[in-house]
Amino acid sequence: MKFNTALLHGEFGADSKTGATTVPIYQSSAFEQETAEKLENIFKGREPGFLYTRISNPTIEAFEKRINFLEGGVGSAACSSGMAAVTLALLNIVRSGEEIVSGSGIFGGTYSLFGCFEDFGITARYAKDNSAESFEEIINDRTRVIYIETIGNPKLDVYDIKELSGLAHSHGIPLVVDNTVTTPYLVKPFELGADIVIHSTSKYINGSGNSIGGIIVDGGKFKWDFEKFPSLNAYKKFGGFVYLAKLRKTLFKDFGACMAPFNAYLCSLGLETMALRMDRLCSNALQLARALQSHPGVTAVNYPGLEASHDFEVAGKQFGDKFGAILTIRVGSKENAFKLINSLKYAYNLSNIGDVRTLVIHPASTIYATNTVEEMEKMGVYDDLIRISVGIEDFEDIREDFEQALEKMSRP
Ligand SMILES: *Cc1c(COP(=O)(O)O)cnc(C)c1O
Repeated sequence: MKFNTALLHGEFGADSKTGATTVPIYQSSAFEQETAEKLENIFKGREPGFLYTRISNPTIEAFEKRINFLEGGVGSAACSSGMAAVTLALLNIVRSGEEIVSGSGIFGGTYSLFGCFEDFGITARYAKDNSAESFEEIINDRTRVIYIETIGNPKLDVYDIKELSGLAHSHGIPLVVDNTVTTPYLVKPFELGADIVIHSTSKYINGSGNSIGGIIVDGGKFKWDFEKFPSLNAYKKFGGFVYLAKLRKTLFKDFGACMAPFNAYLCSLGLETMALRMDRLCSNALQLARALQSHPGVTAVNYPGLEASHDFEVAGKQFGDKFGAILTIRVGSKENAFKLINSLKYAYNLSNIGDVRTLVIHPASTIYATNTVEEMEKMGVYDDLIRISVGIEDFEDIREDFEQALEKMSRP
C-alpha cells in the first residue's frame, strides 16, 4: 500500500454499524457496559472496551490507529496538544535527577517546557550543533533520552536520525523524535532507528488550523534496561509494548491530557489529504526560497532544500526531494521585518505553522520575547528574522505578495 492509499485505507474502513465513511464522533464521556462483570473485566484489562474518554474513546482510537499505521509503530496515544505529547513522552522515562540531551534550535514551546522541568529536578542539555559529536559530548550517566526534531523549528537544522539513534543506543538510551514539521510522508523516523515519535497534530496532520492536538507513537523495538529505567519494570510483561503500557496506565490517564473526540475527528479528516497538501506546500516553499534567495532586500534565506544549506545533504538523504514548508528570511532590521509583515496581503501574521494558508511571524518579538539574545542566537532567532510557513496558494500569488511587500521595505 502506497502512502496516499494508506492515508485513506490504512487501519481504516467504513463504520461497521452504519457504513459511515468518516469516523463517527463519539462525543460521550463514559461508556456503559451491560454487566458488572464486563465492566470489571475491562477495568482489569481482561477484555477490550471503552470506559471513559480520558482513558480511551472510539473516535480517538480510530485516529491513533491511523497515525500508528503511517509511522509504523506498535501503538500510540493521542494527547490534548503537541506540548502534552512532548511532556508525557519524556516524563514516562525521565525522572527527577536525570537528564535530557536535546538538539538546540528546537520549537520554542519545548525549550520553555524543558525550563519548567528544572523545577521537577530534570535537566535538559543542548548540543551545540547537530553533529553526533556535540550530542555525545553532553551525554553522561544521568542521561535518559536524546530528543530531536526532524527539522528544528525555527533554526531549520536537519538532524541525522540514523546517526543519532545509533549514538543513543550505544549509551542504552532511546531517541525521541518530534516529526511535526516533516510528517511520516517525508520521513518515518522508526525506519531510521528512532524509538518514540511525537507530533503536534495541530500542524500538518490537521492541516487547516482548526484544532490543537498531539500524539505519541511507540516504535516498540527499544531494549529497555530496567535498571536504568526502573519505573518501566512493573510493565515488563507487556514486552514490546512496555513503554506504551506504562504511559497509558500512568501519566496519560493521570495527567488527563487526552485529545477531545471532536478534535480527533478533525485530525482524521485532515490526515486524509496530508500528502496532497505536503506535495504542494513543499513545492511552494522550495520555489519561494529560491525566489527570495536572489532578492536584494533579503540578506539570508534558510531552507534545507537550498543547495547552499549546510544540511542539504542530510535532508536529501532522509526526506528525498521534499524539504518541508518552513523557511526563514532575514531582512536587515526589525523595522524592515515589521514593514514586510504589515505589507503582506495574503500571508497571515500569527503564531502557527502547518496551515493550508501562508503564515508569517517575527519570532524575536513574539515566541522568543522572553528569551535572552544569547538564547535566541542559539536557537537561530534574530531581530531581523521572519519565519514563513508556506501555504497551498498558487505560487505566483505568494511570490507577488512577497515581492510587493519587499519593495515597501527600506533597503538594508
Ligand atoms: C507546535 C509544535 C509543538 C507543540 O504543539 P502544540 O500542538 O502547539 O501544543 C511541538 N513541536 C513542534 C515542532 C511544533 O511545531
